[in-house]
Amino acid sequence: MREVIIIGSGPAGLTAAIYTARANLRPLVISGLERGGQVTLTNDLENFPGFPEGLGGFEMYQLFEKQAARFGAELLYDVVTSVDLSGETKIVKTASETYESRTVIIATGSTPKRLGVPGEDKYIGKGVSYCATCDGFFFTGKKVAVIGGGNSALDEGLFLTRFADKVTIIHRRDRLRADAILQERAEKNEKIEFVWDSVVEEVAGSDTVTHLKLRNVKTGSAGDFAVDGVFVFIGHKPNTELFAGQVNLDAGNYIDTDRRTHTNLEGVFACGDVQDSIYRQAITAAGSGCAAALEAERYIAEHEGRGYPGR
Ligand code: NAP
Repeated sequence: MREVIIIGSGPAGLTAAIYTARANLRPLVISGLERGGQVTLTNDLENFPGFPEGLGGFEMYQLFEKQAARFGAELLYDVVTSVDLSGETKIVKTASETYESRTVIIATGSTPKRLGVPGEDKYIGKGVSYCATCDGFFFTGKKVAVIGGGNSALDEGLFLTRFADKVTIIHRRDRLRADAILQERAEKNEKIEFVWDSVVEEVAGSDTVTHLKLRNVKTGSAGDFAVDGVFVFIGHKPNTELFAGQVNLDAGNYIDTDRRTHTNLEGVFACGDVQDSIYRQAITAAGSGCAAALEAERYIAEHEGRGYPGR
């Protein structure tokens, strides 16, 4: 029987690992398919305090992992296939093993949303991408579109100007949601242009993407827009499928926690993007990972009849 199993290895999960490891709880972290989570897809994190020159997302993940391992966290590169979290003993299964634990910290993050239009799935890897850091290089000297008007769209659009000749940001409204500083940078960048009030109705091509079918939502006019690639940054959906029916979810399918990271199930805590539809930053994920770890520690101490300092 383990004390703590942490599902997920992004900033939330690994911060929970650092804290529970330092409390001598020897946490087991089950990484999931994408080790390090979404932060590893970010080319340059400029707003994580303590790194004034910025830091690569993958580099950050490696530092988190090293720090967790240093204090005795066990890191398993595997995928959880099912859980039973309702009893006092929590059961967590991978394809080959069954683990038992007194507490579980859910830190499974979220996944980029898809447009859901014809051609999108067909051209994934052939012009459709959800990760500029991963695929930007393939569009050197080419023309790409970025869909969305939030921080991700502008951040990634700016990154893509390192490779592409032209980056067109296609947004469904005439005002961006992104932070002012990113808007300013994008507007000043000669390689970036905007198409406003427009939605993608189809991704089309032959072997690879050649154009998008766009519709202007104000005028209703439709037309083809020639591109070599399209990067979709329209938000995220939480990775909660494993827990549905056991852990309470909110209307957006995020895990419903109280302000102390408690779920509806005793001994089960959630942190990071899987329970945060508002802030979704590496730093807020790390902060909630810390909170979940302290709550798990407290839960274990109370069940052993020990007091827990400070609360
Ligand atoms: P977001 O802020 O939710 O923005 C999503 C964008 O996609 C919005 O502009 C939205 O349009 C548009 N959109 C949504 N569904 C669409 C659809 N079906 N078709 C076309 N457009 C659609 O998501 P995000 O940009 O991924 O950012 C998520 C969070 O991460 C935010 O809190 C953001 O601040 C944070 N983030 C921060 C940084 C940074 O600080 N540098 C970088 C990346 C992300 P509307 O505006 O019309 O709703």
